[in-house]
Amino acid sequence: ERINPVFTDVVVIGAGQAGLSSAYFLRRAGLAPGSGFVVLDGEDGAGGAWRHRWPSLRLDGVHGIHDLPGMPFRSPDPTRPAAEVVSGYFAEYEDRFGLPVLRPVPVTAVRHGPGDRLLVESPGRRWAARAVINATGTWRKPFVPYYPGVGDFRGRHLHTADYRSAEEFRGRRVIVVGGGISAIELLTEISTVAAEATWVTRRPPEFTGREFTPEYGREVVAEVDRRVRAGLPPRSVVSVTGLTETAAIKRARDRGLLDGRLPMFSRVLPGGVVWADGRFLAADTILWATGFRAAIDHLAPLRLREPGGGIRMDGTRVVAEPRLHLVGYGPSASTVGGSRAGRLAAREVHALLRGEGPAGS
Ligand code: FAD
Repeated sequence: ERINPVFTDVVVIGAGQAGLSSAYFLRRAGLAPGSGFVVLDGEDGAGGAWRHRWPSLRLDGVHGIHDLPGMPFRSPDPTRPAAEVVSGYFAEYEDRFGLPVLRPVPVTAVRHGPGDRLLVESPGRRWAARAVINATGTWRKPFVPYYPGVGDFRGRHLHTADYRSAEEFRGRRVIVVGGGISAIELLTEISTVAAEATWVTRRPPEFTGREFTPEYGREVVAEVDRRVRAGLPPRSVVSVTGLTETAAIKRARDRGLLDGRLPMFSRVLPGGVVWADGRFLAADTILWATGFRAAIDHLAPLRLREPGGGIRMDGTRVVAEPRLHLVGYGPSASTVGGSRAGRLAAREVHALLRGEGPAGS
């Protein structure tokens, strides 16, 4: 299939926090919407991954959404679903700054060419860009670890990404797997209606009792940054910080839900799970709250992976492909990180377009 690409200076892939922040700063640097840059987003509307958060997730149940640059979030209603409130904010933002977001455009591949450009492909449409800012987040790449026997389970499996409401679990015997904040939050909701709700984690969870302060945030970011500079896969924030004290954790603790945690089972049977010592637990549902990975399969043609399994980064820039920036990746995989990474990537890309080369080289 031959499709003539549209030529533009910069393609931003993804319109979540990180992609919109990048677009804002490209615009501010003077790039024209269209010939200067476009944003390609796989969704049907504004909001990034927030469009898909489960309806019971309210703003008072999350860490907090950092402002997009240039337009504060103000004080949104904490009792409305986060999915609606954040999507509304993003829609208004795109409008206010006239950001050229094209939807739905799922990008399937980024490869070399034509000439010294990068070719960005989606079904039926292509773009040839001088630089690409990838901001595709993690929501489209749920991670489920493998356990033997998992294919024989007669009950229902689902991942955090599939969760809609606790009602679906009424009267069920549910196992929630995972040591992060989502696991604890979903366990808390489900335990109010389920016949049984059991929490299992691979390692004993580490409750730090610390609040998630800005200084603490910076320590975590520095740790993940060291990893990606060394070409290692980024780790999730919780695996670096342990569990900080949020309202959700406090609720779970007050209800005694955290005391019943079990270690990871060793295999799945048709009717439940079994531990190495032979102990069996019957279950109808296994909920894998086991996290996400970077949704970057479309970058595979560029062959960026290092022997360490990650992509070697210098700030937001990919060391092996300086025309490509990853924002919302690794150390910038948070709303505050995404906003900052967008500014950094836009500045470096703008310098690259002017022939100044990557900063620091
Ligand atoms: P996303 O919001 O995921 O946006 C990525 C966009 O790219 C999406 O629109 C997606 O459709 C699009 N896309 C993906 N692949 C493609 C493709 N191939 N082609 C085209 N488009 C594509 N962080 C916080 O800082 N505070 C919080 O309170 C917080 N709460 C969270 C709660 C939950 C339940 C979860 C799962 C995460 C939470 N996070 C929170 C982390 C949060 O995901 C990030 O902070 C941030 O929202 C990610 O922004 P992003 O722009 O990187 O990605």
